[in-house]
Amino acid sequence: MKNEARKIRLIMELRRSGVTDTRVLSAIERIPREIFVPDPFKDQAYENTALPIKLGQTISQPLVVASMSQALAVGERMKVLEIGTGSGYQAAVLAKLCRRLYTIERHGPLLAGAEEIFKQLRLHNITAIVADGSRGWPEQAPFDRIMVTAAAETVPEKLADQLAEGGIMVLPLGAQGGDQDLIRVTKQDGKTREESLFPVRFVPLVAGEVPS
Ligand code: SAH
Repeated sequence: MKNEARKIRLIMELRRSGVTDTRVLSAIERIPREIFVPDPFKDQAYENTALPIKLGQTISQPLVVASMSQALAVGERMKVLEIGTGSGYQAAVLAKLCRRLYTIERHGPLLAGAEEIFKQLRLHNITAIVADGSRGWPEQAPFDRIMVTAAAETVPEKLADQLAEGGIMVLPLGAQGGDQDLIRVTKQDGKTREESLFPVRFVPLVAGEVPS
């Protein structure tokens, strides 16, 4: 089966699994996932599975990327922050949905690879840095939306602080190696409220120094 046919089959699977937001589905359709997947796995790029990338990290399952993007309710004029660039795939999908996407990755080589692809795909509205994302990006705050794609045990306080009034953040929460849930944090009148959406499995958010 050709990639185009596989992609259509994947989009239908996402719809059946509850992804109804047409902007999200069209972003998934427009971003070629095979470019973000390492060579040995390219033929699985349109399977609904997570795949390994460099440095022991993973590119998330397409259903998780789509469901998290839908839960974030991104508008086209919004400023969005993603933590955990990894392959860059989720960042590319978000970049199609918003005005400006900021993304932070702690591993330099991963970020370099992702930036190369952003250039190739002409995604000029992405700004990326190597840093500890649990501290957010104070110089660029506040953000209308924040998505964390690595699991923390509690909501990082600095990220909640950098969320704009009326803002939404989605993040996986849970103990290392244990069960995690995707949590949606909303900020209204300066106060945050949390609700649990669905179970997920992410690599841990590692705070502190970035490896050189
Ligand atoms: N969004 C990615 C998948 C994320 S995997 C994609 O679409 O491919 C999680 C990523 O978070 C890994 O690349 C890991 O290095 C990164 N990460 C973990 N802790 C981090 C931190 N404190 N700051 C920034 N990135 C972090």
